[in-house]
Parts: sequence; C-alpha cells; structure tokens
Amino acid sequence: MARKFLLCFHDFNVWNYQKTVPVLEELKDLLGAPFNILVIPDTEKAPTDAIEGFKKELFKLKEEGFELALHGYKHKAEFSQGRNYMGLVSMNLTHGEAEFAGLSEYESSRLLHAGLSAWASLLGKDTKPAAFIPPTWYSNKFLPSQVHAEKMLYEDRYSLVSAGGKRYVSPVASFAGIPGFLLRPAFKFGEIILKVPVGLPRIALHPVDFPQRQTEVHNLIRTALGNGRKPVLYSDL
Ligand SMILES: [Zn+2]
Repeated sequence: MARKFLLCFHDFNVWNYQKTVPVLEELKDLLGAPFNILVIPDTEKAPTDAIEGFKKELFKLKEEGFELALHGYKHKAEFSQGRNYMGLVSMNLTHGEAEFAGLSEYESSRLLHAGLSAWASLLGKDTKPAAFIPPTWYSNKFLPSQVHAEKMLYEDRYSLVSAGGKRYVSPVASFAGIPGFLLRPAFKFGEIILKVPVGLPRIALHPVDFPQRQTEVHNLIRTALGNGRKPVLYSDL
C-alpha cells in the first residue's frame, strides 16, 4: 500500500475566507491536489453579504475537489482567547477551552447538531461533512459515537476512525499557538512523522500560519511528497 498523508486546513470560516482562499489555492498548486478543509460553520454575527460570499466560496472549493469537513460549531474558545497549545504539538498537553471538551452526552449531541444545522444552512442538507474534528481535538467520551452515528469520520489528536469503523494511527504536526521556541521542534517532529514509513501522518495548518510560516510549511509538504507519500482525503479512508 502506498504511503499516504493528510493535509488539513483548519478553521476556515465566514470571517477569514477572503484572506484564506488564495492560501488554499497556493497550497493546492504545491501539493498537486485539493485537500481537506475544516469548516467552522457558525455565521450568526456575520453580515449577509459575507455569508453569501462564504457560501459561494465553499461551493467553489467543493467543485474544485477540496473536501469539506465540519470543525465544531462556533469554535468558541478560539475566538475568545485563542488556541492554547503547549509543548510538542502532537503529544503535548493543551489547555485551550474547546467547545466539546468534557461535555455531557446531551450537551455534546446538542452542539454537534447545532454544527450540523449551521453546515446545512451553508451547503444544503444533501452535502454531508466528510469528517468531524472537534476544535483543538479536545473531546468528551460521547462525541466519537455521536459523530459515527451521523456517518462521519471522527478525528482526534492521535488517530482517525473512519465512518466505517476503521482506525488509523495518525500523528499530527500543527504549529498554531505554539510559543516561538517550540516552532522548530514542531517542524522537526513534522519531518519525522512524514519520513518514518508508518502511520497516516497529518499536517494541520491554520490561517495564522500564513504568511509567517509559509516557507516552513511549504518545505514540510515537499518533504512529504519527496518521501513518496501521497495526499489523501478523509473520504479515501
Ligand atoms: Zn480549530
């Protein structure tokens, strides 16, 4: 089986889509293929023309072959206080307040369905998200089965479980919110997981990585491709 990897662009939303689309197109050119985009679907406080523009862009990206996944509902912790990653990304402790962290069964389900209906109002009921990724990967014990009940792939920090129940070990390299002195180790870690011939590594990118970390990100993608890994979409799993 050919070695694979996932490129996942997080936090695409109604507030950042205009700035972000050119970044996505550039990454697509480098990768040679469209990739996974994690959409924050809430548009509650956005002006109507922004919502319309966002919808249009989502359809266009989908048309181009990008895979759209659901990334929470409001990603609240993100907007209110930024993301809090500490230490080496894929193995670290984080203390962001994530939307789904530690919720009760009822609250988790309520929020998941709020996310799904916000999604449906953007993309229509017939376009289901390929995957669900809780913001900052913090979760609760009920969420994975709630996501699978909706026939979506579930992603956590260390693994992926396809809608069909297949589990993949999946280390992730991510750079947003990391203190400066840990950036180099994080990129080094990314190189390692892409070079060692095991698992299904992910590169998780965020709007804040651009343009500051563009060169390093591009180099990391070249490393993956140079090591014979092929980019895949969630729905390929
Ligand atoms: Zn996020």
